[in-house]
This record gives sequence, C-alpha cells and structure tokens, in this order.
Amino acid sequence: MIFGRKNRKPITIPKKEVAEWKYSTCNYCSTGCAIEIGLDKEGKVVTSRGHAGADVNRGKLCIKGLLETELFESDGRGTEPLIRDKYHEDFKTTSWDHALDHTAEKIKEIQGKYGRDSFAVISTGQLLTEEFYTLGKLVRGCIGTNNYDGNTTLCMASAVSGYKRSFGSDGPPGCYGDFEHTDCFMAFGSNLPEQHPVIYWRLKEAKEKRNFPIIVVDPRVTMFAQFADIHLPITPGTDCVLLNAMMYVIFDEGLEDQAYLEAHTNNLEELKEVVAKYDPKSAQHICGIDEDRIRMVARIYAKAGAAMSIWTMGINQSTHGSDGVANINNLNLVTGNIGKPGGTSLSITGQCNAMGTREWSSCSGLPGYRALEKPEHREEIANYWGIDPSFFPEKRGLAQTDIFPAIETGEIKGLWLIATNPMTSMANTPRIRKMMEKLEFLVVQDCYKDVETNEYSHVFFPASVWAEKEGCHTNTERRVSITRNAMKPHANSKPDFWVFNQMAKRFDNGKVIRFPEKPEEAFDEMKHLSKGENRILDISGMTYDKIEAARGIQWPFRESDEGLKGEARLYTDGKFQTPNGKANLIAVNFFNNNEQPCGEYPFWLNSGRVVEHFHTRTRTGKIGNCNKFSPTPFMEMNPDAAEELNIQHQQYVRLTSRRGDAVVMVQLTQRVPRNMVFIPFHYYDCVNRLSLGLLDPHSRQPAFKQCSVRVEPVDQAEAARLNAERRTF
Ligand code: SF4
Repeated sequence: MIFGRKNRKPITIPKKEVAEWKYSTCNYCSTGCAIEIGLDKEGKVVTSRGHAGADVNRGKLCIKGLLETELFESDGRGTEPLIRDKYHEDFKTTSWDHALDHTAEKIKEIQGKYGRDSFAVISTGQLLTEEFYTLGKLVRGCIGTNNYDGNTTLCMASAVSGYKRSFGSDGPPGCYGDFEHTDCFMAFGSNLPEQHPVIYWRLKEAKEKRNFPIIVVDPRVTMFAQFADIHLPITPGTDCVLLNAMMYVIFDEGLEDQAYLEAHTNNLEELKEVVAKYDPKSAQHICGIDEDRIRMVARIYAKAGAAMSIWTMGINQSTHGSDGVANINNLNLVTGNIGKPGGTSLSITGQCNAMGTREWSSCSGLPGYRALEKPEHREEIANYWGIDPSFFPEKRGLAQTDIFPAIETGEIKGLWLIATNPMTSMANTPRIRKMMEKLEFLVVQDCYKDVETNEYSHVFFPASVWAEKEGCHTNTERRVSITRNAMKPHANSKPDFWVFNQMAKRFDNGKVIRFPEKPEEAFDEMKHLSKGENRILDISGMTYDKIEAARGIQWPFRESDEGLKGEARLYTDGKFQTPNGKANLIAVNFFNNNEQPCGEYPFWLNSGRVVEHFHTRTRTGKIGNCNKFSPTPFMEMNPDAAEELNIQHQQYVRLTSRRGDAVVMVQLTQRVPRNMVFIPFHYYDCVNRLSLGLLDPHSRQPAFKQCSVRVEPVDQAEAARLNAERRTF
C-alpha cells in the first residue's frame, strides 16, 4: 500500500442542488446573523450559508449558526400534544383541541378558585416578535394575569433597568458600526469571542484597520481577555467600585466633558459627591485592580476622541447589575460618549429576540415600551384592542425570579412555560424542583418534549422551531430582521403564533380582541402602535419586503423615512426620554452583599458560556458537532490551588455550596485565579445545583456568578458512573 500526500484522494463534498434560497435570521444569539437556507426541488433543506450581503455578519456564521439547519430533524422534537393528570404518570397523546380546551379550563378553574394572578406565564427571548405581541394580547388582554414575565429576567433585566434609569427608556443607543469609529473599547464581563463570535469578528476587523485599545474587565482570563491590550482581573461583583474610581480620576484631573454634562444631564453634583469617596488608592483594595492601572485606564478612556463600553452577563447577573449598567452610562455621559460614532453604551443582548420581547411582549408593561403604571398607556392599548382599560393592572406584577418563590408560598398555583427551561437555567435547582412539584397545573410549550422541565408538566404543547415559522427578530443593535417560512412544521407541532391565537378563542376577551391570522398582520398592528411623536421605538416605515431587501433595518425607521436605513444611533441630539429631556446621572454606592469565599467554602464559583452551546442545550445538545466539541460539563481550576488539594487534571471532584453539590471533571488552567473555579452554565444538574442567585433590587436579575463553594476529591469510579448517568442527550 502506498501512503503519502500525493496519493491521497481529495475529499469531495457531494453536490447539493439548491432550487431555492430562503432568507432567515439565526435563532440563537442576539448578534442577528442572516442565514440563507438552501432547499431542493422537494422543499427539503440541503444546505445553508451566511448571507454575504447582510451588514451584520457579512457572510460569516459561528458553529451554532452553521449547524442550525440540523435542528429541524433533531432528536426529541415534540410531535403531538401530550397530557396526563399527575406529573409522575405517563403522558398520553391527545389532540390539539383537547390539549387547548383542557388548558383553558384549568387556567379558568385556578383563577376562579384563587384569583386571576394565581396563574402565571413565563416566556422567553426565543420567539418571533409577532408571537411575543400576540402572547401579550392573550395574557394581558384575555387571561388577565399580572404574573407574566420572560426568561430575559435572567439575562437582560439589569440592562433594561439601567437604560430606563439613565435615559428614561430601554433601547441600546449604539451599534456594531461604532467599532469602526471608536478610539477606545472597554468590555465589562463579556467573553465576546465565545458568546457572540460574529460580533467579535466585526470588532477584530475594525481593530485591524485602525488600531485602538481594547480593555477587558473580567475576573477570569477569558478568550477575550487574552486578545485584549489591557486585562483588568476584577474581584467579582465590584465593577461599580472600578467605575466610580475611574470617574474620580476623570473629575480630579478635569477630563470630563463639561459642556455635554451641563447641556444634557441631571444630578451632576450628586454623582460627584459619591464618586469623591472612591479614590483609586482605597478602591484598589475592594475591586482588586491596582491604583496606577485604574488611573491609566481612566485617562485612556477620557482622552479618547470617542470611547465605547459593551457589557454582558458579568455586569447584568449581579446584585449590582442595574447599578453597574447605570454606572457604565454615567462614565459615558461624563466623557460625552453617548450618541456619537464610536462613543456609546452598548449592552450585548443574550437571546436572539430578547430585544423583541422587551419591545412588544407586554411582559413588564404594554406593547411598544408602554407602562402599565401610566393611565394614558393603558387606555391607548385597551382602546386599540377593544377592551375595557380597567382589565389591565395598574402596575407590573411579579418578575420571573419572584414567580418561583410565589409558587413556594402558595400564591401561584398554575404556570405556563413557553420555550424556557428553569430546571436547568434557574439558580438553586433543588429548590426549583420542589416548586415544580408543588404546582397544581403546569403546561410546557417547547420544540422539544425531552426538555428537562417537561418532567413536571401536565400538558405539553409541541412547538415549531425557527424557519418552520415566519416573523421578525430584533438584534442587539435594534436591527429588525426577518425569518421567512422555509418549511412545514415538524410532525403535528404548531407555530407558537397559532397556539396563542387558538388559546385566545377560549377566553371571553379573545372574542372581542382581533387576533390576526398571519404574522405580517400582527406586524402591521405593531407598526401602528409604534407611531407617534417622541416615540423612539418606531417601526412604522418597515415592511417584511423592505426588511428582507435591506437584510435588516434598525429602529427608529419612521413612515416618512426614505430608503432602507434606520437610525444607527439613539440620542444623537442629546435629547433623552426623561421628563426634562436630559439624561440622569445615577450616583451609585457600593455595598458588599454577595456570598463571599470563606474558610468553609473558599472558592468563588463563576459560570459562563462555551461557544458550541446555547443556553440550556435544549437545541445545541442535539447537534452532533456541538456535542462533539463540548460533550460534558467541566470545571476550570488553577493548578496551584489543585496542587494544595492533591487534585489532578481530568479528575472528578465534588463541589459543595450551601445549596447542594455537584460532581464535575477538573480542567487545570491559569485562566482562573487561585481562589476561583469556573463551570459552563449550559448543563443540567450541574452549576445551578450550587448557585445562590441573590436578586438585584431594581431588575430582579439573579447574581449567578457570585457565590462560594468548596472542592473535595471524590471516588473516581463512583464519579465516572454518576457522570455517565448525567443526562447529556
Ligand atoms: Fe447565530 Fe449568534 Fe452564531 Fe451569529 S454569532 S451564527 S447569531 S449564534
């Protein structure tokens, strides 16, 4: 036999005959990459590609997007509605009519017995915007419970809260185009190359053209920190201290933008008074970044012609999440970096349509950034939907993280979960399990029947996935993109839009409110509600065809706007959505309220993502190549700490916190400091068995990343057996 390169047969990729390309938007993260799905003559998916003409991704996709078309036929998809009396019995297959009738009856029965708010609804950031709007109509207008929220409380609530407190409205002011104009880029608690690879690629491309400093603030030496010019390995949960100390230097050295502050902000004196308490000499002992470095970074940021800050869960998932966001906004207001090219605050959103749910789902208010607390908003929506405004509550109900404890106390008896998986995603799994067992009625609506939470349901609604449906997403930079319907729903699954419409027919107000048959008609209603003077969330100039032709349009895009481009940035005129049009500087005091490492539990437990998986792996856990690269959970541990405990690389260890324990394999790496361990959060029965999840007082978002654990050796054979039993699909 002859070996060698010369004699190797080249790999041939079988030719794929594509009869039609369907335009779509990735249904995983909030980057908003445009994907074309290739169908053959029979309408079967044969391939896909990143759309080269889309400004967001310019032809690129990450591993999740590249393999996304494998979802349609993946294992575990829900095929028929399922029903059972008790959660531990076997499911029986049933018809859609019976599943919907039974669910509507149970909702009414629970509400009749315990009051309207005793039935709660928790949705997601994964649906299409028209579905969110329709669900809002159903829940706010027909079912009438005030305990309705999205799982976005676990990822973006602090950003929303911080934007509202600073600028008077939600809505990220910047865009990816800012990378091409910035002179200084600072990232807080964001591992961009793994979380949002295509945004990272856009940043890298911009940096290669015009070299500007990248500063990464993260307790761990993440992939992003390794690529940064300056890495600030901050003590978990102390970002506010670092930001205050930076502003101390800026005011002390007269580097602030005084003209901007005077013209466009409120509360400058209050901010200065608080910041004056955070001189870098003292602050360094709290935030773990030395004095000189704080001064250097503050000067680089303030002296840059334009500087921008991004952040993700390192800021949001904290007991100081909302304050952290407000303080990033403070830094940018103080340096005059809002609303100008390359100068902005930009929260990098998690889920593909977390923005859509913030804008249109009515979770925390009413559609189009309207508030339940404002009578004129209640009246406007009630009149448009044709119902009595008194049907709406006068203030927001419980957030997702308060709904679960309300099950524990007996305040909530029934729950409808839509495309969310709290058995894996919520902190303190042992406690969540008890809550699920306590529910009198649980309906789970998901594309996958084997999602962990479905173990506790009484009814399962099988939902269609991604391009089996049609509708819009809004991405991180306010860009509305469309997913065209590429194929029929799998088996007897149904689009979420259809499920909400059918459920509405079973409630009195559902016969009064108009529920459009097609997503585009729902989009037309949203357009109508978005119009108005001083409304920043204006999509009235968009149509499905225009969105597709432009490969996504940023809002605001008004009826009177010509061409196909929306506004790239908000607040370019320095006018904000506050009563006097000026931005609010929010003085932020730091108070140390987290669980901390101690003698008994000496390690910080940090969590985050790996590039191959999305959230709780409901979908990526089914994709062969995503699983191949990241098959099981692991724990990063510093080799010096491991040596002290006589722990070897790839050994199993037991982690114990005050909540529970988990057995996990060790990966020795210098990425984590000696007093910290890190575990990816995607896996069932792992990091959230340990996490505490104290809540931010403003946003109700949990601090997933700040709690303490101890690490102990464990019998390796027993651990290997436990790990094999762990559910990895
Ligand atoms: Fe999808 Fe996000 Fe990957 Fe783009 S970066 S392909 S939107 S998962």
